[in-house]
Amino acid sequence: MSHILITGGSGFVGSHICITLLENNYKLVVIDNEANSTSKCLLRIKNFFEDKISQIEKKLIFINSDLRNFYELIEIFETLERKNIRIDFVIHLAGLKDMNKSILRSIEYWDNNVLGSINLFKVMEKFNCRNIVFSSSAAIYDARNTQKFNEDSKKYPLNPYGLTKFTIEKILHNLYEGSSYPWNIINLRYFNPAGAHYSGNFGESPLDKSSNLFPLITKVAVGKLDFIKIFGRDWGTKDGTAERDFVHVTDLAEAHLLAMEYLKNKKKLFISINIGSGQRTSILNLIRTFEKVNKCQIPIKYCDRRKGDVAVLSADIELAKDILKWEPKKTIIDICKDGWNWQSKNPNGY
Ligand code: NAD
Repeated sequence: MSHILITGGSGFVGSHICITLLENNYKLVVIDNEANSTSKCLLRIKNFFEDKISQIEKKLIFINSDLRNFYELIEIFETLERKNIRIDFVIHLAGLKDMNKSILRSIEYWDNNVLGSINLFKVMEKFNCRNIVFSSSAAIYDARNTQKFNEDSKKYPLNPYGLTKFTIEKILHNLYEGSSYPWNIINLRYFNPAGAHYSGNFGESPLDKSSNLFPLITKVAVGKLDFIKIFGRDWGTKDGTAERDFVHVTDLAEAHLLAMEYLKNKKKLFISINIGSGQRTSILNLIRTFEKVNKCQIPIKYCDRRKGDVAVLSADIELAKDILKWEPKKTIIDICKDGWNWQSKNPNGY
């Protein structure tokens, strides 16, 4: 019986991927150390599917483990094999993701993201599993002078987080080029995932104090924060605030399904694909849209620009359209509506 391994699968993006893959009849093993999530969300997923999917217990297996523990990882693969569960595909999301914290705690980021990934790839090689979709990031691009990025745009990560993602892509490329056996690899370079599942049952619930914009907006809306800080109002954009490319998390989850299905028939492949909306939305516009859609007030406070921030970051998504036949279906309005539906029903997260 073959399963897909989802590392970091109880996190924000991972939990939405689990839902999409279960809906498409895949069987999953999630490995997560719950450093920034809780496996409670997987229990919710099981409850959500209980009536629809028979034997859901066997189709969504959770293992609390840290990828940095190489021997434990080997043991997990061996135990699964003994139970006749074969991992033939990996979606690798496990990692730390806060750009600002990565500047202050760089060693922790290198250790967690890069060492964890190396362990995973070594174990994959050992157990003859060489199909992987890796969660990379727009943070690898040189955002100093460019605003819209295609996959060939210059790479120049501006913080340790981006550097770890770029390094992992490089390690995967070395494997693709040098391994005696063929690897199939897709790096999905996410722009700004946001929003939540339409049901309001699943969403972003970081344990660590997040500096990501969207969860901060919903925290202000639910009264857990007094105001939202906007860093810089002199960026040379229409309203002066920085512009980003927000992609709905369920659209992003769908991109993983399509990437996996695309890889299935390939003999040997290495490709990187941007996943964003292709649209620029200013920080102020996102906040105003949130207020309008959800009929609430989000107090703001302008602050100085942060070190390493840039005016505009947006994705050219032609390759995703062309290769994966993927296009975002949801808009900024959906992001705001679904994000608030989740946060208002779950003010304390899971
Ligand atoms: P998240 O923090 O919600 O999920 C990451 C999960 O990985 C968490 O559940 C965490 O507990 C787990 N994890 C971390 N280190 C681990 C380790 N050593 N062993 C096992 N589990 C570990 O983050 P997310 O938003 O779901 O992001 C998922 C991936 O996508 C990350 O790799 C992130 O860098 C990447 N990404 C995210 C964004 C974003 O804005 N959300 C943008 C670009 C790329």
